[in-house]
Amino acid sequence: PHPRPGKEPTPRPALGPFAPELLRKRYLRRDVSGDVAETAEEMFSRVARTVARAEGRFGGDASAMAARFRDLMAGGLFLPNSPTLMNAGLSLGQLSACFVLPVEDSMDGIFGALKEMAKIHQSGGGTGFSFSRLRPKGDPVRATGGVASGPVSFMEVFDAATEVIKQGGRRRGANMAVLRADHPDILDFVRAKERAGRLQNFNLSVGITDDQMRRARSGRKLDLINPRTGQVAEKIEAAGLLQEVAASAWRRGDPGVLFLDRINDAHPLPGTIEATNPCGEQPLLPYESCNLGSVNLSRFAGRGEVDWDGLEGTARLAIRFLDDVLEVNRFPLRRIREETLKSRKIGLGVMGFAEMLIELGISYASKEAVGMAEEAMKFIAAAARDESRLLGEERGSFPLLEESSLDWDAMRNATVTTIAPTGSISLIAGTSPGIEPLFGLSYSRDLLGEEMVAMNPLFERMAKDRGLGDGLIRTVAAQGTLDGAEGVPDDLKELFVTAMEVAPAQHVKIQAAFQRFTDNGVSKTVNLPPEATVENVLNIFALAYDLGCKGITVYRYGSRDQLLHLGEGGR
Ligand code: UDP
Repeated sequence: PHPRPGKEPTPRPALGPFAPELLRKRYLRRDVSGDVAETAEEMFSRVARTVARAEGRFGGDASAMAARFRDLMAGGLFLPNSPTLMNAGLSLGQLSACFVLPVEDSMDGIFGALKEMAKIHQSGGGTGFSFSRLRPKGDPVRATGGVASGPVSFMEVFDAATEVIKQGGRRRGANMAVLRADHPDILDFVRAKERAGRLQNFNLSVGITDDQMRRARSGRKLDLINPRTGQVAEKIEAAGLLQEVAASAWRRGDPGVLFLDRINDAHPLPGTIEATNPCGEQPLLPYESCNLGSVNLSRFAGRGEVDWDGLEGTARLAIRFLDDVLEVNRFPLRRIREETLKSRKIGLGVMGFAEMLIELGISYASKEAVGMAEEAMKFIAAAARDESRLLGEERGSFPLLEESSLDWDAMRNATVTTIAPTGSISLIAGTSPGIEPLFGLSYSRDLLGEEMVAMNPLFERMAKDRGLGDGLIRTVAAQGTLDGAEGVPDDLKELFVTAMEVAPAQHVKIQAAFQRFTDNGVSKTVNLPPEATVENVLNIFALAYDLGCKGITVYRYGSRDQLLHLGEGGR
């Protein structure tokens, strides 16, 4: 079925107010002299045509499908991850956002990975690494008779290379570094970003196993193990380590935590996952890549109702789109092509969840919001799975299906769902990012070096409908929230609750609700007010673990340079 728009959602253009500027600066095709050489409409046609070529290979009607893909994107119903928009049909042709590279404990291993990273960043992709196999600082190096400098020192090299490459590209290369909690250098790693400006191109995640979580809870010790020798180097308090992680996260927003056993228990393929992509939502095996795309939920809710038929049609078409991307993608390395096409992982997710809730009259801070998160994602996941099954019957299953734990006769993709941050594509679509609550009713944001100020369009409409005065609107514009504003009905205050007003536990419950129906991971930041404590952070880690999340990231307002500020002038 062809997707159709929701039942009378807030009338607004298909693209957001900042889309023209963002597209012109970063996405639109340029000619040899560097001038913009296409419109947004032409960009969507270029992407649609390129991706739909895959249909021709399977005997389908490529031009008819191209028209449907174009409408899907130009209508603001679904967008693929940025590299697909930027590179489809152009010489680069690399369409994926997410990669994981292995780092072996040798000079060739480390600098080979560095070279591979450079190629991926040039093409607009982000890379994740586990540094857990590297021998610790001070460990002997046979070839030189010297001592090793440890994982963190090599991360600095990757960071410096990223910094240099990003000057040339349209998209900043981003990295994830994972270190297992039992690596002897774990404390160096946890504190690695405390010095301002260090490892700016890295997000950090501590990989924790179930056993290590249990040790932290029961006050037991943890063996730190030298990965080169397999021998215990030291014993530390597991709870003390978690406390250190929480304290660093409280101070700087890094590191996050990855629950490694969760990730591997849910993973349907042979092999062990040690790392994720830069923002944490996509666990991958070494050399795997994944392309993501997101349905704009705000387009499928209006007047208190969800347009389930429209949502199903869009989710199905989006899965077809993402599988077609795998067909036409130009992979940056042969090895990546081989590994990726064995499992054919794709990741359909959502953006605009907060605005969907507002259209439905549901507060993000309520139990109903958790219910809607589950209902919407369960629905999308079922449509996505079924479409992948149909594609498997039509085009053949992914090669590792037999060896996987999936119990299906046909299945085109080992995974079909991932919730991405949608940092850029939600701006293009003009909706709230991913599954995050509204950051502010008005906020200022650094966009490509320029300060932009925005008032949420749903709030503007509601304020007009309910006859709220100019004075109140000025207050909201200045401070970004309804906090303390006089004369505002309670229901509006609840409906327009913002990120820091939502209790931390509720953030985690929403993340967990989406995770229950998502094959891969869920990108979510638990936004904390400045006055939050380290204890609060520890409790968030514990709740995320108990509720089945695959990882967790917190961010305390003002704890480091940030893109977003509440209100017109910042808080
Ligand atoms: N990413 C990247 N550089 C960036 C932003 C994102 O490499 O500056 C990669 C990274 O793997 C991240 C993924 O793209 O996890 C998805 O991010 P997001 O959804 O914000 O990207 P968008 O498609 O909105 O640009």
